[in-house]
Amino acid sequence: MFSMAAEPITPPVEVHHTQLLIDGKFVDSASGKTFPTLDPRTGEVIAHVAEADLEDVNRAVSAARKAFDEGPWPKMTGYERSHILYRFADLIEKHNDEIAALETWNSGKPYEHTSQKEVPLVTRLMRYYAGWADKIHGLTVPADGPYHVQVLHEPIGVAGQIIPWNFPLMMFAWKVGPALACGNTIVLKTAEQTPLSALYVSKLLHEAGLPAGVLNVVSGFGPTAGAAIASHMDIDKLVFTGSTVTGKIVLELAARSNLKPATLELGGKSPMIVMDDADIDQAVELAHFALFFNQGQCCCAGSRTFVHERVYDEFVEKSKAHALKRIVGDPFKNGVQQGPQVDEKQLNKIMHYIESGINSGATLVAGGNRIGNKGFYVQPTVFSDVKDEMAIAREDIFGPVQSILKFKDLDEIIRRANATEYGLAAGVFTNNMNTANTLMRALRVGTVWFNCFHVFDPTIPFGGYKMSGQGREKGIDSLKNYLQVKAVVTPLKNP
Ligand code: ADP
Repeated sequence: MFSMAAEPITPPVEVHHTQLLIDGKFVDSASGKTFPTLDPRTGEVIAHVAEADLEDVNRAVSAARKAFDEGPWPKMTGYERSHILYRFADLIEKHNDEIAALETWNSGKPYEHTSQKEVPLVTRLMRYYAGWADKIHGLTVPADGPYHVQVLHEPIGVAGQIIPWNFPLMMFAWKVGPALACGNTIVLKTAEQTPLSALYVSKLLHEAGLPAGVLNVVSGFGPTAGAAIASHMDIDKLVFTGSTVTGKIVLELAARSNLKPATLELGGKSPMIVMDDADIDQAVELAHFALFFNQGQCCCAGSRTFVHERVYDEFVEKSKAHALKRIVGDPFKNGVQQGPQVDEKQLNKIMHYIESGINSGATLVAGGNRIGNKGFYVQPTVFSDVKDEMAIAREDIFGPVQSILKFKDLDEIIRRANATEYGLAAGVFTNNMNTANTLMRALRVGTVWFNCFHVFDPTIPFGGYKMSGQGREKGIDSLKNYLQVKAVVTPLKNP
């Protein structure tokens, strides 16, 4: 169902920050260059944003290095750092709706979701890491011999962080929260499609008391600014979220430069497995959510919906009905569930996959077309009779295209679910405890959601097996990404 106002709704926010944030100040890029950032509802320009290149990244790294080496940030007590992070969370909460509006305007996500779910979750996550800041400590170990052995946990230094466009603010929070709690300094590059919300909240972080140079934010493109971060000799740690193809590039750049350790959160092709004992209506609804949430632009989307043959036909019919009911339209309009895709490149990629699904013999059950010719809207699309070898069942589409596949038994589904280069997440629908336990152990993925999907609490570690990444973010695990371990050994001498 398409529900669009005659004219795009005016976003309830203005753009204040378009420059680079370096050493606590908003500045132009060294070259003076800017690039347009677009409204995915229309393809029109929202603002021109300063474009960072190597020289700007160098300036940002120098500021971060100085803020790390000279302090005060890493030398402050954890309690002082936690205060600043709590104040930051309060400010995000205070400006919740403006931040949400900016996020919606720049990315196309429904405003009801950004304002009621995503920005509040960012606040929650910042409070979670604020709570950690004064609870990070090392330990002593009982080594053999007359030694007193301490293990110190120290901040790792300057963190280089590169984030994607599908959750601009959430990815900012996943990266910045734990890095700051541990006492690091940061150079962060936003995705070129969605630079605005990170600049807005970074200003709030400084209002909360963050010293200059601790967080530097650059807008710019991957092969220039992004590559400059990944290959910088003075960055101590790389943390990246994006596609597997780009993940391999940045890992190589990190290795070739100063061998900085890297945490990577990459693509996925997550199975969503519906057993024949599941509550079918609930499974249809959650499988729909697993795929269509965020315009289908989630690395962990349930993009291979495997359904037991005994309930397959009913499941397909009901999934079709759900897709046809889905409300697509201006993301600022109340009740809209799906906004536009983020940009024309993604739109074209999705249309190409829809064509490929049709050409490879899958049955198009719903959707299949672009909506209108302005903005980047795509009909909620469902394919049945999808086979494992089809491109739509193997590659990361990153759009509102559900592929439904049929299976017969548990051994078969374990083999097929794992037959992918990815291993980010899986959903399992069953009420049978033995089936659940068997699948939980057999699936080679970083997250298994039973009878639920997309649960993103800040305490839960997230990351991938295989080519879906290295390391984990959120929860306690994320702290490890930002800490060095130093062993200190002292002989014990009798006085
Ligand atoms: P997508 O293809 O969906 O845009 P990417 O993985 O390419 O996803 O982008 C994720 C982030 O990685 C973005 O911030 C992007 O600018 C950055 N990026 C892209 N290419 C490179 C590169 N060669 N080096 C470093 N960063 C890059």
